[in-house]
Amino acid sequence: MYEVTIKKQFAAAHRLLDYPDRCSRLHGHSWVVEVSVSGTELDENGMLIDFKEVKKLVGEVIDGLDHQYLNELEFFSQPGKETNPTAENLARYIFNCLKDVFKTGLKLTGVRVWESSDTCAFYSEGR
Ligand SMILES: [Zn+2]
Repeated sequence: MYEVTIKKQFAAAHRLLDYPDRCSRLHGHSWVVEVSVSGTELDENGMLIDFKEVKKLVGEVIDGLDHQYLNELEFFSQPGKETNPTAENLARYIFNCLKDVFKTGLKLTGVRVWESSDTCAFYSEGR
């Protein structure tokens, strides 16, 4: 099996709900997103998928997050069912946006979201 990973960065604000610490106050992060795609077949260029193609697809999702207040986005602000915009839930959101965009034979392995240089969360779905 082969796996490729790309990294993209964006800036966004959030606040954690019902959290008894300073993270409940509005603040921002420079988030780093790592997206990994796996498969068994390489193309005629010896690539699983061109890094540029993965970056483009991830970029389309990131564009909707960049310089936003994450709590206000539809995914996190369903009336009566707010989702805390943690790194974990952000990884799941990005995973869900990307899970069906890759061509047949490629699997989205997982999404890792770095909130700071030493803390991250990873989301994947069992295979
Ligand atoms: Zn935070």
